[in-house]
Amino acid sequence: MSKSCLFCKIISGEIPSTKVFENESVIAFKDIQPAAEKHLLFVHKSHTADIIDMSSNAPEQLAEVFAAIAEYATDKEFPNGFRLINNKGTGAGQTIFHTHFHLLGGKRLPGFH
Ligand code: AMP
Ligand code: ZN
Repeated sequence: MSKSCLFCKIISGEIPSTKVFENESVIAFKDIQPAAEKHLLFVHKSHTADIIDMSSNAPEQLAEVFAAIAEYATDKEFPNGFRLINNKGTGAGQTIFHTHFHLLGGKRLPGFH
């Protein structure tokens, strides 16, 4: 738990969110500024700053987040598939420094190369 971290506050319930998934280690909630018809954020409940911090210092969390995504992102939930995005660093667009994965889907997504 990092006192000033927005996503830690969402995890603790101090700040409201629209949760779509939760287990003992991971939560997922709707992005407040959706970039697609469905835009969710998957977040481990233990704070790490970014994907490199998580991969280096808590690699087991990667498996837990990806297991949560696999459980949630079924063909029924995302019949057209989905896109999974992680931004690392301000230059890549990271604005919240609690590791999170954007899961985007719904209507056909624009090309991405
Ligand atoms: P990133 O730019 O990769 O760090 O992603 C941060 C995401 O968090 C952005 O897509 C924001 O729209 C989203 N966001 C910011 N504040 C909230 C909030 N209170 N609830 C849900 N999503 C949020
Ligand atoms: Zn945090």
